[in-house]
Amino acid sequence: MAFAVVPEPVPAPGTGEVIGIDRGVTITAALSDGRKLNCPQLTVKERARIRKHERRAARAKKGSPEKRAGYAKAARLKAREVNRRKDWCEKISTLLARGFDLIRFEKLNIKNMTRSAKGTVEQPGRNVAQKSGLNRGILAQGWGLLRQRTEDKAPGRVEDVPAPYTSLRCSACGWIEKKSRKSQADFECVSCGFICNADENAANNVAAGQGGIPRPRRSAGAGGVTAATSRSNAREPQPNWVGIPLF
Ligand SMILES: [Zn+2]
Repeated sequence: MAFAVVPEPVPAPGTGEVIGIDRGVTITAALSDGRKLNCPQLTVKERARIRKHERRAARAKKGSPEKRAGYAKAARLKAREVNRRKDWCEKISTLLARGFDLIRFEKLNIKNMTRSAKGTVEQPGRNVAQKSGLNRGILAQGWGLLRQRTEDKAPGRVEDVPAPYTSLRCSACGWIEKKSRKSQADFECVSCGFICNADENAANNVAAGQGGIPRPRRSAGAGGVTAATSRSNAREPQPNWVGIPLF
């Protein structure tokens, strides 16, 4: 998706504040300050109307006005979603560029995500996992657009954080463990007991520039001290928020 005009850069606030943004399945973007932002999508009703118009158009006689009108109506509805997404990206990217000196995005493989939802632009719903009611292709596009637009407004202040472990890493002590992710919404560190909304915890990791590299696990062989060691570490001040590499 291209914009005709690249916007003027927004001045940095100069507060030294860093924000991390994590992509969620149920929430489009979770911010490390606890905010949860959703990219607008078409409603179920609107989607049904698109399908209805397309179905009618497909059945209509070749070259007939009905055929043309059906496809035109479907196209207008699809354009509505694109516009909503653009508006949302404008609003959020300005908010980020104005509010924070450094903006860190969870690095995604957008290409793969989009491929998994191939066909969505032409035929929404086809080949798309609709289980959660989300159109992943659309969300991926919204994400890519938000990232690009933020970079436009905050040149040199946007970073991508490789993110394979952001959802499993404890943002308080750095421990990476599958079991800490109790559910879609809840994170509870099995090592230090830190409790946090799972999306916010992930966004904290992104803000800290952490998540790509698993913290080297201490072997439990030497007296089985993993829990004790990490617990004592958790009491020490953790420089996560300023993004200083921990190791
Ligand atoms: Zn922890």
